[in-house]
Amino acid sequence: MRLLDVEEQRIPFDLDAYIAEVTSGRECFVCRIVREPEPEHPVIFQDGQHIAFLNRYPPLLGYTLVAPVGHKERVVEDFDLASYLALQSFIHRLGCAISKVVPTERLYLLSLGSQQGNSHVHWHLAPLPPGVPFEQQQFAALVTERQGFIDQSVVQREELALRIRVAFDEMQ
Ligand SMILES: [Zn+2]
Repeated sequence: MRLLDVEEQRIPFDLDAYIAEVTSGRECFVCRIVREPEPEHPVIFQDGQHIAFLNRYPPLLGYTLVAPVGHKERVVEDFDLASYLALQSFIHRLGCAISKVVPTERLYLLSLGSQQGNSHVHWHLAPLPPGVPFEQQQFAALVTERQGFIDQSVVQREELALRIRVAFDEMQ
């Protein structure tokens, strides 16, 4: 399958350029994508509350980011309980869709971010494929600067986003 073939080809991750980009004081990257989708971040789903899009630098195939549409920063305190649970419900449904489309032994789920860059709170949904040696799992599987990121064309990214979107719609 073409989507899986690309997994073997990786691009080295330029950590210095990335740090310079995210700490440059440019507009928040999530708010930017909410306003205008970018080819590097194909949007899987967006409604009035949530947005899901593919990671620009995916160490794992199908690595997706989820965020509230509105700019929030604190991972729990900036949500009332209803909006937090709505977001987690969205993540549950999307996680099922990702696991259906991409071979997934475990779905890693975490929120990171920094007040110095990438402050808009977001969740990482990172599907670990079967067969990865133990020492390359968990945090090691997510360290882009060590292993690079998967080389995908814009068309391949859009195709993957569409397939996850179709599975997401089927979960309804
Ligand atoms: Zn924002």
